[in-house]
Amino acid sequence: MAKILLVLYPDPTTGYPPPYARDSLPVVTSYPNGQTLPTPSAIDFAPGELLGCVSGELGLRPWLEAEGHTLVVTSDKDGESSRFEQELSDADVVISQPFWPAYLSPERMAKAPKLKLAITAGIGSDHVDLATAIDRGVTVAEVTYSNSIGVAEHTVMQVLALVRDFIPQHQIVANGGWNIADAVHRSYDLEGMDVGVFAAGRIGRAVIERLSPFGVRLNYTDRHRLPLEVEERYGLTFHDDIRSLVRDVDVLTVHAPLTDETRGLLSDELLGTMRRGSYIVNPARGAIADRDAIVRAVENGQLAGYAGDVWFPQPAPADHPWRTMPHNGMTPHTSGSSLPSQARYAAGTREILESWFAGTPIRPEYLIVEGGRYSGTGAHSYASRPPAPRAAT
Ligand code: NDP
Repeated sequence: MAKILLVLYPDPTTGYPPPYARDSLPVVTSYPNGQTLPTPSAIDFAPGELLGCVSGELGLRPWLEAEGHTLVVTSDKDGESSRFEQELSDADVVISQPFWPAYLSPERMAKAPKLKLAITAGIGSDHVDLATAIDRGVTVAEVTYSNSIGVAEHTVMQVLALVRDFIPQHQIVANGGWNIADAVHRSYDLEGMDVGVFAAGRIGRAVIERLSPFGVRLNYTDRHRLPLEVEERYGLTFHDDIRSLVRDVDVLTVHAPLTDETRGLLSDELLGTMRRGSYIVNPARGAIADRDAIVRAVENGQLAGYAGDVWFPQPAPADHPWRTMPHNGMTPHTSGSSLPSQARYAAGTREILESWFAGTPIRPEYLIVEGGRYSGTGAHSYASRPPAPRAAT
């Protein structure tokens, strides 16, 4: 029997369960690339429930306990005296969400001799030291595609919020004001702008598809070129690298994983090559940006705005400068944790656990590390390697 250590964000401040705004979820039957939705044998929650917080437990407790496993759920994840570190010593499985990541550093993994499986309930496993997972033979899996479209929608929302300057306008009415000049002196139309998408994987491609009808010119870069037919359909201009991309755009959206290649990429130097008054929306990972370089750029006008929902570390400290810098449209890490996304990644987490306990293969699209090497999706997205040619299909 296994001990599963599940780290989730705290409950709503007003108690659990919260009042829900709607009675059901829209029906989504497949992902855009044809991948099937999670297929656990059963679920013990009603889709639409808040599952990602401590009391939600990803809906896993009834099933895990019926199978004889031990489930420990906590939000106390940081520092040596945290419940997470205390429980780690005999945990077989660790599960956490990128929104409230249980950082699995080499030091922490050394304290977890029984650890065999780390599941990301969501997408993006950079909070796990993947090199150590490879060395230690720990399997790392995530629920690929579970929240990709939600993140793409959030990206489009934040692009529009920045370009049209929505947030100050809303604050004006909330404060009882009506000065139109105050409200519009930084307000532009997205139409006609040059938009650059850094990394056209699942999310980046969904952003391209959603921004295309706005009458923008679309540019992108990625390690693999999209099929020619896709480039032609969206009028995409491909750039060899991000340096070339950022020079030619008014709006940059960021959708690459956090790796040694992408850490700190949005630096003073790179930002300085962008058009004055550019916008950046980064829902990928906070550490892809140099925190203070972003602050300097919005303060001196090189950037007209910065938005996203990812920070480092998470939760962001109360004095993190992105909370208060001018022209920011930041949210806490929410884009991938809408209620529909939660239903999918909770079901996907159960699917991974069911496979693990049954000794059957975890779907390749969920795998990041297995058997001491990058595997499945991980082999494609995380492994460092030189640029590859255009995909065949
Ligand atoms: P995908 O793996 O589908 O796409 C990532 C893309 O990034 C791939 O096309 C990959 O290229 C490309 N890439 C990787 N490294 C580089 C590089 N150095 N230069 C250029 N391109 C690069 O992932 P998703 O679209 O599903 O997710 C992207 C990221 O978004 C995740 O890694 C995660 O960090 C973040 N995310 C954030 C969420 C949130 O809630 N805010 C939720 C989900 C994800 P290729 O594979 O072609 O080599």
